[in-house]
Amino acid sequence: MAAEQEAVSNKRVILSNYVTGFPKESDMKITSGSIKLKVAEGSKDTVLLKNLYLSCDPYMRWRMSKLDRPSFVDSFHPGEPINGYGVAKVLDSTHPNYAKDDLVWGSTGWEEYSLVTAPQLLIKIQHTDVPLSYYTGILGMPGVTAYAGLYEVCSPKKGEYVYVSAASGAVGQLVGQFAKLAGCYVVGSAGSKEKVDLLKNKFGFDDAFNYKQEPDLDAALKRCFPQGIDIYFENVGGKMLDAVLLNMRLRGRIAVCGMISQYNLEKPEGVHNLEQLIGKRIRLEGFLAGDYYHLYPKFLELVIPAIREGKMVYVEDIAEGLENAPAALVGLFTGRNVGKQLVAVA
Ligand code: NAP
Repeated sequence: MAAEQEAVSNKRVILSNYVTGFPKESDMKITSGSIKLKVAEGSKDTVLLKNLYLSCDPYMRWRMSKLDRPSFVDSFHPGEPINGYGVAKVLDSTHPNYAKDDLVWGSTGWEEYSLVTAPQLLIKIQHTDVPLSYYTGILGMPGVTAYAGLYEVCSPKKGEYVYVSAASGAVGQLVGQFAKLAGCYVVGSAGSKEKVDLLKNKFGFDDAFNYKQEPDLDAALKRCFPQGIDIYFENVGGKMLDAVLLNMRLRGRIAVCGMISQYNLEKPEGVHNLEQLIGKRIRLEGFLAGDYYHLYPKFLELVIPAIREGKMVYVEDIAEGLENAPAALVGLFTGRNVGKQLVAVA
C-alpha cells in the first residue's frame, strides 16, 4: 500500500463543553484521531493541510459559548476540534488553485492535519523570506485589522494624538507602529512593566502606561494627552472606553476593534459617557478585518518592505506543540501573552 494511503494519527484540540465565564485549559482536551495523507478519490475542491502554526485570537472565546445573540461567528461544536486562523503546507489537493507544497494561511483546524473543503478561506503565501509564523500576525488577520482599523476607519493625519489599548498585543503593537509611520503622537497602555517597556523601547510609542497600576484612568489619560485624543483604537472596552470618552477631542474617531474586558462577563458593563459623542462630534465605528481583505495586496506592499528594512518589528509569543495550545488560548484573557500568541504545531 502507498504510504499516503495508510492512516496516520492526527492530534487534535477538542472543545469539551460550551464555556461560561473565563475559559479554562480544562474546557479543551487533546485527543488523537486518524487521517489518510491523501484527498479521497472523487472529493472535489478539497485541500489536505499539514498545519504549521495556529493563531490564538480573542474572538475564539465567543465561539466557545453557545451563542444566544446575533454574532458574526458560529459556536464551536463540543466534541469536535476547534478551528481558527493558521499557517499550513498543502500535502494534497483536488482544487485547481492549490498544489502540493504550496504554503497558505487562513482558516484551518486545531489539529496536525486538516481536510479543508472551503479553500476560498485560504490565501497562498507568496513571500517566504520572512518568518512563516508572521502570517498568523503581522502578515495575517491581526495585521489587516491594525491597518484597516487605523488607516481606513480613522484616517490619521500627521501630528494627531493616537491612543491604543492592549497596545503590546497582536494588533496593538502594529497600530502603534502604523500610527508612527503616519506621523502621529502615540501612547499605548498594557498590563505589565515588561509590556510597557516594549511599547516605549521596541515599538516606538511616544509614551505608555500600565493601566493596572493607575487608580484613575481619566487622570492617566489627562497626564499622557494634555491636549486630548484624536484617535482611540479600542481593544478593551469597559472602564477604559468611559475614561477615553472624557478625553476625546473635537471630531475624534474611535475604531472599535474589540472589547476583550467584556468577553467573559455574563452581563456586559455599561458605558456611561456616551453623551460625549454629541458635543465633540465623535465618530465611534466598529469594524471587522474580514471587510478589508480586498486591501491585502496593498497592505503587503507597505508591510513586507517595512519588515525587510527593519522599519516595522513584531514580537511573538510562541507556544510549542498542540499540548500547550489550550493554555496559550486562555492566557489571552489574563494577559499572559507578551506579543502575538501563537502555537507551533510540532
Ligand atoms: P492581544 O492583545 O494579543 O491579547 C489580548 C490582550 O488583551 C492580553 O494580552 C491582555 O493584555 C489584554 N486583556 C485581556 N483581558 C483584559 C481586560 N480585562 N482588560 C484589559 N485588557 C485585557 O489580542 P489581539 O489579537 O491583539 O486582539 C486585541 C483586540 O482586538 C481584542 O479585543 C480582539 O477581540 C480584537 N480584534 C478584533 C478584530 C476585528 O476584526 N475587529 C480582529 C482581531 C482582533 P494586557 O496585559 O495589556 O492586559
